[in-house]
Amino acid sequence: MTQIEYKIYIDDIVRRVEFSRLKVSEHHIVKTVAISKYSTSDEITQLYNIGQRAYGENKVQDLKAKANELDELPIEWHFVGNLQKNKINNLLDIDPSLFHALDSLELAQELQKKLEAKDRTLDALLQINSAKEESKHGVMPEVACGIYKQIQKECPNINLKGVMSIGAHSDDSKIVKSSFETTHAIYKQCEGATICSMGMSGDFELAIECGSNMIRLGSLMFNK
Ligand SMILES: *Cc1c(COP(=O)(O)O)cnc(C)c1O
Repeated sequence: MTQIEYKIYIDDIVRRVEFSRLKVSEHHIVKTVAISKYSTSDEITQLYNIGQRAYGENKVQDLKAKANELDELPIEWHFVGNLQKNKINNLLDIDPSLFHALDSLELAQELQKKLEAKDRTLDALLQINSAKEESKHGVMPEVACGIYKQIQKECPNINLKGVMSIGAHSDDSKIVKSSFETTHAIYKQCEGATICSMGMSGDFELAIECGSNMIRLGSLMFNK
């Protein structure tokens, strides 16, 4: 695609987001994070030139490499992958604007120790395994609010901003919808939460209609 064709392509995605968010309310604002894990720095630059500023990666080493390669651009980097304890320092060195996948109290406590030692803070979302899938990370819906509160209390260097979830892995949109509704209900119950990150290329419209205000689009944004 030429730059002009790509712009038209992205405009269409923006229109789809707009259409869905207006079904909720004209005050319902949705932020799009372009997930660049399948894409090169050149492809990110092309999308940046169309106006996209927030990008996300799911591997610490990829985030580091791309943030370095693109350090001339004022990109807002998100980390959406699961974090192994031995990668915490590497992630903190990159200082991402938001960590979407805080998936256990144990990881929060480990992060807290490292943050405290460095006298730093990190904005993060609690990942919820809303559809209770074995293949997925995240805390179970029943205990999510309790863990959210406990992290707020015990981990002062983590700024919990809300919740994140990956929609149920199903062709049945009723099942996917129910997983989004579960996440959104938890989001509503968590005191101080302002971000509900859910919805990917295949299900973002449904996610927005269920109350998502942050979508993570990978293959769609990069036309893969
Ligand atoms: C890869 C990824 C996405 C984007 O997936 P697409 O289906 O390509 O839009 C979103 N969130 C997370 C956590 C991911 O790992």
